Amino acid sequence: MEERTLQRLYYDRQLRVPGWGPHGQEILAHSTVLVVGVGGLGCPVLAALVRSGVGRLIFCDPDTVEASNLPRQSLFSVADVGLSKVQAAALVLAGSNPWIDLEPVAERVTAANVRALVEQADLVVDGSDNFSTKFLLHDACRSAGKPFVMASLYQWEAQVNSFDFRRSEPGCWRCLYQVAPEDGCVGVCAQVGVVGALAGLAGNFQALTALRLLLGLETATGCSTWVVNALDPSPRRLKWKPDPACACARGKGDWRWLEALTATSLREQAPWNLVAPVDRQVVIDLREPQEILPHEWAWFEAIGSRVIHARWSQWHASQPNWDPSTTYLLVCAHGLRSLAAVRTLPPSIRGLSLTGGIAELKDMIEGRT
Ligand SMILES: [Zn+2]
Repeated sequence: MEERTLQRLYYDRQLRVPGWGPHGQEILAHSTVLVVGVGGLGCPVLAALVRSGVGRLIFCDPDTVEASNLPRQSLFSVADVGLSKVQAAALVLAGSNPWIDLEPVAERVTAANVRALVEQADLVVDGSDNFSTKFLLHDACRSAGKPFVMASLYQWEAQVNSFDFRRSEPGCWRCLYQVAPEDGCVGVCAQVGVVGALAGLAGNFQALTALRLLLGLETATGCSTWVVNALDPSPRRLKWKPDPACACARGKGDWRWLEALTATSLREQAPWNLVAPVDRQVVIDLREPQEILPHEWAWFEAIGSRVIHARWSQWHASQPNWDPSTTYLLVCAHGLRSLAAVRTLPPSIRGLSLTGGIAELKDMIEGRT
């Protein structure tokens, strides 16, 4: 079959939908969407946007596919375990629509790269699993004036929020949460669990919202949150009022917060090459017992560090006996729980959080980065 005919037939059913049509298809073909996180949310978001014909998709995730991802991360198969998520996803997505551009980015989104990534996109979808990334993306979209669609999962509950920062009207997530909650305070999927089918529902809801915003069909949810509890399947819409004192009331274009944030994260987080080896260093592993592999502690012991185990889930109840003459290196899987923990240390104690956590350290030791 001739390629043009094949392409027309590919999009045929959605072209018939009122409000979409050939004009809408053209808008999508010239749109760029940034998807952050290729996990339980990012997989259905990408699958839907790719097949809808969004012309360019940039998607970021530094992780590799793990067996525990497979029940909800529908782009991956058992054979992908151990491979880069973005590379494995790109292969599948390229086969499902050959007429779009795919840009896999095997990096974590941080204060250092968020602005460059967000400014390339017409719309940003958050599929991350931690508060610091969600707030970072939200604030960057607000400053850049880009629509932002975010979602969160917690066991049987999903929430979706969306903000159209192209408009100058007040209202953003900071009106509701002035200060980002500490990462790990609610519990990450590895600890509290997640339902795969619910991730698919929330991800598709995000994709639909993104399509509506690109096609100009409806405004964002704005100052309201769409909440579904899978045990009580009637969705709810929670509304709140914009905060006149919030930074969103001042409009877009202000990036000073990002410069301040870069300075903060440099003080509190330590790349591996800055902290090892350190005399009298004690490593505190905050992970849960089932996350720890026996050989991982040997990496630290090999450079003369003593390793102690103090799980994050019990951190507030029991902490080690602190010694002011010691440097403490806090570690966890990805550097999120350790960053939250380092902020709770007594002021006289020198503590550092290992940036990127054991996952990044493992990549470095095994020569992948
Ligand atoms: Zn606000």
